[in-house]
Amino acid sequence: MNTERLLERFLEFVQIDTTARPEADSYPSSPGQLILGKRICEHLAAAGIEVRQDEHGIVWADLPANVDRDVPRVAFCAHLDTSPELPGAEVRPQVIRNYAGGDIPLPGSPERVIRFDETPALRQALGCTIITSDGTTLLGADDKSGVAAIVEAFTYLAEHPEIPHGPLRACFTCDEEIGHGVDHITAYKMDAVCCYTLDGVGTDTIDVETFSADEAKIVIEGVNVHPAIGKGKLVSALKAMASLVNRFPRNQLAPEATEGREGFLHPHRMEGTVERAELRILLRDFETGQLVRQAAMLERMISEVREEFPGIKVDFEVRKQYRNLRDGLKNEPRVVAFAEEALRALGRTPRRAIVRGGTDGSLLTEKGVPTPNLSSGQYTPHAFTEWACLEHIELAARWVVAIAQRWCDSEAAR
Ligand SMILES: [Zn+2]
Repeated sequence: MNTERLLERFLEFVQIDTTARPEADSYPSSPGQLILGKRICEHLAAAGIEVRQDEHGIVWADLPANVDRDVPRVAFCAHLDTSPELPGAEVRPQVIRNYAGGDIPLPGSPERVIRFDETPALRQALGCTIITSDGTTLLGADDKSGVAAIVEAFTYLAEHPEIPHGPLRACFTCDEEIGHGVDHITAYKMDAVCCYTLDGVGTDTIDVETFSADEAKIVIEGVNVHPAIGKGKLVSALKAMASLVNRFPRNQLAPEATEGREGFLHPHRMEGTVERAELRILLRDFETGQLVRQAAMLERMISEVREEFPGIKVDFEVRKQYRNLRDGLKNEPRVVAFAEEALRALGRTPRRAIVRGGTDGSLLTEKGVPTPNLSSGQYTPHAFTEWACLEHIELAARWVVAIAQRWCDSEAAR
């Protein structure tokens, strides 16, 4: 791996503003994503790699097999956009070489400091090169660490034709942070036995499970008459909804009361008038079947409120969001096993993890492409104190190469 080139490109990528814009009606939601995509095309094309940016701004790169036998195609994926929660324009990266420990002040924002004591992962980065923002923006290592790792891995493979591999595909997606990362991707377009997203925190970690997720919408219609003559007639949708919200469990099944494998039922948005009130609720659990029980619980709460507020009309619907990655990974056990074996071949110890949320991989897996998520050397995403470790991004790039080799060696490929 060319560590200095990796650093240079990572720094270039984070300085291109690719903040996702949830309010935009274009795809991608911000022009910076197209600019970054173009730069990636230029870098990969310069290495002789076949690459194109499609009509949606998604970048596809292909490395043909360099062995005679039949090896299934494997894909790697990272997202170009950054979170809209924090400013992502005019990122001024700070590079600290040979990190010797201690707190890391952020030069543009004296009150923001990455504290050594509060950031256990910094211990794993002693002696390494650390990159931060100046504290006035996010860094964008989520997910430009993954982007840089895949670009370096593919460039390295193009430069080293003696390393045997099957057909490899890279895919750089747009608008992951606003839930549209795989809108324009199908199993047919991916055409791979599996895909690995490089969008995980830290090192040596494979996310093999996500939540299963639904969103419920409850609309209550009240009876609105002028309050002066409301006696015996007015039924407030607001009060009925407040009563409903009050029935949600607080000491269990709530995000503020759960962790690890525990699911939750989370009312997260409410708006309304006397006439009409609307509530949105997130249903989350690692066991997909539990979502049905959560919905049944909502139905019970609704019927109680109906009794309490005669005259209201209630509309209740549940929309599927995504499903636990595990459900789809089961169908192709080699996907995770090969990633682990590849990492061990690099002298590292792999760790399996679960995500209390969804990834592009959960959606891709549902579309028929098993897609676990790999760590990519990013830390504390979606924060002013976001940072990255160059050596850990490089490790992610080496992991990509090792996975390619492992699939090439597979029994099924012989
Ligand atoms: Zn990400």
